[in-house]
Amino acid sequence: MALKTGILKGEIFLKHLPGDGCPDTPKRLKDLYKMLDAPDMQGLFVDILPKKATTEEILLFHTQDYFKKIAKTRGKELIAFTADTHACEDSFDAAMYAAGGLLNAISQVAANKIGNAFALVRPPGHHAEKSRAMGYCLFNHIALGAAFARRHLKLDKILIIDWDVHHGNGTQHAFERDPSVLFFSIHQAGLFPGTGSFIETGLGAGEGYTINLPIPKGYGDAEYVAIFDRLLKPVAEQFSPDLILVSAGFDTHTDDPMGGMGMTAQGFAAMTASIKKIADTVCGGKLVMSLEGGYNCEALAGSVRAVLREMAGITCCNVNKMAETADKKKMGFVVRRCTDVHKHSWNFI
Ligand SMILES: [Zn+2]
Repeated sequence: MALKTGILKGEIFLKHLPGDGCPDTPKRLKDLYKMLDAPDMQGLFVDILPKKATTEEILLFHTQDYFKKIAKTRGKELIAFTADTHACEDSFDAAMYAAGGLLNAISQVAANKIGNAFALVRPPGHHAEKSRAMGYCLFNHIALGAAFARRHLKLDKILIIDWDVHHGNGTQHAFERDPSVLFFSIHQAGLFPGTGSFIETGLGAGEGYTINLPIPKGYGDAEYVAIFDRLLKPVAEQFSPDLILVSAGFDTHTDDPMGGMGMTAQGFAAMTASIKKIADTVCGGKLVMSLEGGYNCEALAGSVRAVLREMAGITCCNVNKMAETADKKKMGFVVRRCTDVHKHSWNFI
């Protein structure tokens, strides 16, 4: 029998209250968790318990001083790190459980106890730098997950795919000199945090192991799926990772207030199908997603639902059919820039 899909959720992630006006509201997860209670979602998934990360686990990426700075917010009133990144009395605990829970999910997937997993947590993580909170993020869960898998699970190679509308600057910086972690990010050009240009390709021994696709607004389901087929698939197959992690943001949704992309739930399902197929080919299906952005609660719940049903094998998108309708001009721009910049590192044919 096929192994089940694990879901990490918990009340602690609703307790992170980053202040009035922050789009990262608890409602994002409340609506998601409610969606999971629907009759047609019952019995399909297994729960992964939130588990508090240890200090040593957080130090796999972050500095001791930074860890202490975040830990000091515990029990205190709202503290601002930047104009848009705050911690309340429970934010430290929420971030510790989000990170620890993701590591737990990764351990269970690596040990073949579950087939794949999705961590439905807040705060998000991919903007958090080694010693700096930013973009609503405190600890960089996905970076910690990759570092943990390398160090403690002894996995040789990790592929991180970041499909959030914003560039995952913290994750890129964590591994830009490391050829054992390949970072592939597709994001909207010109948005926060301003990093992630085509020519940021990694440094030193990591040259070629950072792939950035900053695209103009207006790309939708067909283009994203076609880009995965044309650019991600060949690179992932050549890199042949032992585990695939996804920074899954849903702010590329056509109804999201943040970006200008045109994705729908069907597109997220198709991207999942595409990644799942790659994972089946190269690493026995080992795939773990972690929630990043997505600020229209209804669009977020519908999209995560579509992703989860694809992960669990209940639906199976026709990826090729969707990719065939991609706009040729939009595709041509990304394919030309990416293959030109990376032609010495990867074979795209
Ligand atoms: Zn985002």
